[in-house]
This record gives sequence, structure tokens and C-alpha cells, in this order.
Amino acid sequence: MVDFDVIVVGAGPGGYVAAIRAAQLGMKVACVEKESTLGGTCLNIGCIPSKALLNSSEKFMDISKHAEEHGIKATKIELDLAKLMQRKDKIVKQLTGGIGFLFKKNKIEHISGSASFIDSKTILVKSAKEEKKLSAKNFIIATGSSSIEIPSMPIDEKQIVTSTGALSLQSVPKSMLVVGGGYIGLEMGSVWSRLGTKVTVVEALDRIVPTMDGEIASNFMKALQKQGIEFKLSHKVNNAKINKDNVEVSIESSEKKELKEKYEIVLMSVGRKPNSEGLNLEKIGVNLDEKKAIKINQEFKTSVDGIYAIGDVAPGPMLAHKAEEEGVACIELIHGQKTHMNYDIIPAIVYTNPEVASVGKTEEQLKELKIEYKIGKFPFMANGRALTTSTTEGFVKILADKKTDSILGAHIIGHDAGQLIAEIVTTMEFGGSAEDIARICHAHPTTSEAVKEAAMNVDGRAIHI
Ligand code: FAD
Ligand code: NAD
Repeated sequence: MVDFDVIVVGAGPGGYVAAIRAAQLGMKVACVEKESTLGGTCLNIGCIPSKALLNSSEKFMDISKHAEEHGIKATKIELDLAKLMQRKDKIVKQLTGGIGFLFKKNKIEHISGSASFIDSKTILVKSAKEEKKLSAKNFIIATGSSSIEIPSMPIDEKQIVTSTGALSLQSVPKSMLVVGGGYIGLEMGSVWSRLGTKVTVVEALDRIVPTMDGEIASNFMKALQKQGIEFKLSHKVNNAKINKDNVEVSIESSEKKELKEKYEIVLMSVGRKPNSEGLNLEKIGVNLDEKKAIKINQEFKTSVDGIYAIGDVAPGPMLAHKAEEEGVACIELIHGQKTHMNYDIIPAIVYTNPEVASVGKTEEQLKELKIEYKIGKFPFMANGRALTTSTTEGFVKILADKKTDSILGAHIIGHDAGQLIAEIVTTMEFGGSAEDIARICHAHPTTSEAVKEAAMNVDGRAIHI
């Protein structure tokens, strides 16, 4: 007799969602988590705390720089960083505690400790208190990911930090070098730049956010430059030396020119790697790919029967909503249902200001795939609501199939980009066309009208430009 129908290893958005769905379907389920709180990277040291800091820092910048244009005299604006951090911690506590409540409500057994496989049907869970063996018919590995470290840039989480350290700095640094112009670098760089830090981003490639549409990326960089963030594209950091008050770095350009510079803080944000080590996977025959992600088929099955993998530890974009969706789909497959995962339509958002949101194919990908397409664009400058909220930066860009008009991709840079993309995601999931969005009545005045106008402009008939 096995102890459980399903044991989920890891209580991040992939794991805790899978556990809840399993309980809903009547399975006897346990979720093993090695950290003292539930919610994984996303709730503890990722999506949630970073968005809390982005919101506070945006408010600070908005009041400091833009109050006067609204006729508001805000004199003597001061930053209380400790309070700002307390707010973030309170939100994290509320949400992680909420998962504990959901586990109890759904009668999910929460097992504290670090899991590793003894064989394909048994795990060993070690905690400070005890060690126990647990068996199950099925296991879902949802152990997430961690920051990639470069050996010549040793992380101490004080002066050379990952996102985790950058989420909890005790004072506003005078200068920060961000290594990597991707999601984390630009979000956390924005937070500290808004609070007063001089931020410099070093990016190895000749552009930022490499997976996003090229035109959007270059407009995004210009917007961040206007806010005071400096960029060194096609540059790499070779090594760093930690001094008492600064970090000395050696930065190399693509022409092999070397710069020696000093920064108070260095943020390493060069990507994340799957947490596939320490689970004894080699011993039980679970295969990994070249990036050390767990290889799975379309049904999340690993190379070992009854063992599944989802979320950041499996291949694909490392995004919380991808992990959650896989959690639900994986359990439903185990339960005998069909999967609904559609990897072509996973939205991605950088929560800076302006935000950048993307779904489907970029122009570069369509060109490479030799798919003929039409473009419809609309600037927020011509949108009434954006004018009233002083958020006129950016535009909506819709890419539609030249013959069928079906939407192939959409890319938005603008204040509300992350919310606005949802309409296009839904339309794409239903196989919709640009014409479908163009014919839907959108409320006035809203920034969603810019999406409608971009859709109309796929056929050159936007009204307001
Ligand atoms: P995780 O959330 O990493 O959870 C895995 C869990 O498994 C962890 O709690 C870990 O302790 C546990 N675990 C690992 N090994 C074991 C073991 N052997 N035994 C027991 N437990 C184990 N994504 C977004 O979509 N939107 C965002 O805005 C966003 N912002 C981010 C900001 C930052 C700073 C970072 C770092 C990431 C961000 N992400 C964001 C990415 C997102 O956090 C991840 O994609 C998501 O958390 C992946 O979920 P997961 O369940 O696969 O893994
Ligand atoms: P990333 O993959 O988004 O960006 C890493 C960047 O570093 C790339 O532009 C890459 O070209 C560059 N780079 C790599 N090596 C370098 C080097 N030696 N020197 C200079 N630049 C180098 O990675 P990230 O920002 O660390 O974030 C990790 C993952 O976490 C993201 O890919 C994303 O999946 C997830 N995340 C998502 C969000 C969100 O959804 N808003 C926010 C944060 C993190």
C-alpha cells in the first residue's frame, strides 16, 4: 500500500496549484517543501516582493517628479525605506500564509523537509527534526529554479547580490551595476533607480530582453534611458573584487576593451537554472536535457513511469503562470483528462514603467519562419485615457497573418501593457483575428481602445491617427 496518490515536491506556483487541483479531484495528496514558508520563489523572493517594490518605488517617483504637473505641491518628500520593505514583507507573509490556509482547507498534507528519491515509488524527506520515507503512485517534481552564478563573480548577497539580496537592501545604494538586461535586471534596476540609485546595466548581447520583439526592446531601452538608467550593450563582466565600500569590476566590450569600474552593489541577473540537483534523479533514471532541466513529454512524463515534472525545473519559459497551468494540466492528465497547455500562447510581462507585454510570435520569429504578416500599431499618445493619466509613452503592435488575419503575436509597451495583453491572449486562444478585436466595442475612455485601434490598423483603418 502506498501512502499517497500523488506527492508533489516543491510548493511554488507549480507545486501548490497541482496539489490543490489533485485534492479537488479527490486524490490523497502531500506536498513536500524544504523552506519554512509555502509559495516558492514566486511568493517569497520573486514575483510578489518584486512587484510590491516596483509599486512603492513607482509611487515615490511619480510623487517626486510628476506631482507638480497635476497642480499638487508635494514638498519635502522623504523615503522611509524600512517602511517600504515592511509593506513588501507583509504582503509576502499574507500570501504565503494564504497557501497554508488553502492546504488545510483542501486537506493537503504539508510535509516539511528536503526530498530526494530512494526509488521510483519512494522518497526520503529530511528535515532538521526527522527523516521519513514516503511512497506514492505518482510524483510531481516542481522544485523550481535558482539564480545562475558566475564563478568569477562570487555572490555574498550583500555587495554582489542576486534578486534575493536586491529585494532586501537596507539602504539605497549610490550606484548599482546590473549584470544582464533581462526581466530581473530591468525590474530590480528600475526599483533602485527610482529610489535614487545610479543604475548601469551591462548586457552581453547587442539588445536588452532578447526573447522579446526587437522594435519593442529598442523603444523599451530608450524609455529606461530617459529615466536615467545607463546601458552598456555587447559588454560582459569578467570578474569582481569585493572591497570594504565597493565592488571593483572588470567589464569587457565586444572589441575586447577592458573597463575597470567601482559600484556599491552588483546585481547578478544573467538567468536562472533548473533545480534538478540533489533529488537523486540519475540513480532512478530520470533524464535531464543539456540545460539540466528535467526532460518531459507532452504529458509531463519523465523517463520514469509515474514521475512527472512541471514549472521552472521542466523546459520552457520560467514564468509563474506557465508553472501554474502545467500544475493543473499535469494532475488532470494523471486523473485521465486531456491537457489544455498551449505553449504558443504564454504571455510574458516586464513590470517596469512603461510595462512591456508580449504574446505569440515576434516580428523576428515570423521572418525566420517565412510567415507573411501584416502589422497594426497604435500609439498611446493618440489615446484619450492615456493623455488624462500622463501615460502616453509606448504603443500597441499586433501581428496578423497576411492571408487569414489571425493574430500571430502582439507586443505592447505602455503603462497598462500587462493588463491590456490579456484581451489579445484570449482572442488568440479562441483562434481569433485582428478583425475580431477591431469589431468589439471597447469602453471609452480606456487604454484598451489602443488595442482596438491597433487591430483596426492591421488593415490601415485606425480612426484616431
Ligand atoms: P518555485 O517557485 O521555484 O518553487 C519551487 C519550490 O520547490 C521552492 O519553494 C523550493 O524551496 C522547493 N524545493 C526545491 N527543491 C526541493 C526539494 N528537494 N525538496 C523539497 N522542496 C524543494 N514569474 C512571473 O510569471 N511573473 C513575475 O512577475 C515574476 N517575477 C519574478 C521575480 C523574481 C525576482 C524572480 C527570481 C522570479 C520571478 N518570476 C516571475 C519567475 C517565477 O518566480 C517562477 O517562474 C516560478 O516561481 C516557478 O514556479 P515553480 O513552482 O516551478 O518553482
Ligand atoms: P533573463 O534570461 O531574463 O535575462 C538574462 C540576461 O542576461 C539576458 O539578456 C542575457 O543575454 C544576459 N546575460 C547572460 N550572461 C551574461 C553575462 N555574462 N554578462 C552580461 N549579460 C549576460 O534572466 P533573469 O533576468 O535573470 O531572470 C530569470 C528568469 O526569471 C527570467 O527569464 C524569467 O523567466 C523569470 N522572471 C520573470 C519575471 C516576470 O515575468 N516579470 C521577472 C523576473 C524574473
